[in-house]
Amino acid sequence: SDMAFEYPERPSAQDWSTHYPAYFRPLSGPDDEAKRAASEEDGDPAAAEAKRGPGAAGHGGSEGAAKVEFADIGCGYGGLLVALAPLYPNTLMVGMEIRTKVVNYLQKRIEALRAFQHGLLQRPGGAEWVDVRAKLRREIAELSAPQDPAAPELHDNGETERLVPGHYENIASMRINCQKYLPNFFEKGQLSKIFILFADPHFKRRKHKARIVSATMLAEYAYILRPGGILYTITDVKDLYEWNVKHLDASPLFERIPDAELESDPAVPCVVNSTEEGKKVARNKGSKFLACYRRIEDPAE
Ligand code: SAM
Repeated sequence: SDMAFEYPERPSAQDWSTHYPAYFRPLSGPDDEAKRAASEEDGDPAAAEAKRGPGAAGHGGSEGAAKVEFADIGCGYGGLLVALAPLYPNTLMVGMEIRTKVVNYLQKRIEALRAFQHGLLQRPGGAEWVDVRAKLRREIAELSAPQDPAAPELHDNGETERLVPGHYENIASMRINCQKYLPNFFEKGQLSKIFILFADPHFKRRKHKARIVSATMLAEYAYILRPGGILYTITDVKDLYEWNVKHLDASPLFERIPDAELESDPAVPCVVNSTEEGKKVARNKGSKFLACYRRIEDPAE
């Protein structure tokens, strides 16, 4: 059977340090506080500074700590995150994906981007840099090819990944079933953007309950999204677009953002063009239907 999902009991119990080592120290008991302070002092001051990071690194969900603000639901191979990382260099973003192989792939991709970036900064064209690249390319190749037509393009990503100045420390992926555990990861109003891009269409009527936009799921998205935050949806399936719009229009917690207003949103071009699925649709000359909604204040509050 499928590997069990790991999820925290509540958002403050989530240890983000493995996902964003530049922003978080591992969660630990109060008696580790002194040890941590000591190890920071005799460590590399630059590294310690980096750990405090932009947005002040902290522990889990404590006040003033760095927090994940963007979530890509069903992120696939991570094209959106890689495109957004340098655009929002001080914002932490997470890709959430149910398929183990795809999550592993994206983890490697992010590790590679981080290593490339550091390698480039430290010794352009140096021998060590080439080694890191070769090693990561081998590791990526060893992950067996996911059965997905969107995948092959990426398999030589070591060579073809286009680096943009940006640290890529602000993106991460995790394996979760978004239909089950989202409120375990995020506090009320924690997120400013949620992306649901080219979601699985689940065409058959009896499969509609598997759709990632539903009345139940919208209540959860509204809970973790702050008022003013934006939910982005795009699909090449007209029927799914109509489904998304029908459910979002019916929700008292969301209002549609007019297309004209979206033109000035720097995230929108990435939403439309940067994901692997979006690129596949473009190659096949398919249509793309965009619908973005703003989370509005809860009328009851
Ligand atoms: N957003 C990506 C893109 O545009 O390239 C991937 C699109 S792909 C068609 C849909 C993705 O959603 C798949 O990778 C699938 O595994 C993932 N997915 C489906 N149901 C999910 C769930 N309940 N939780 C997390 N991910 C899910």
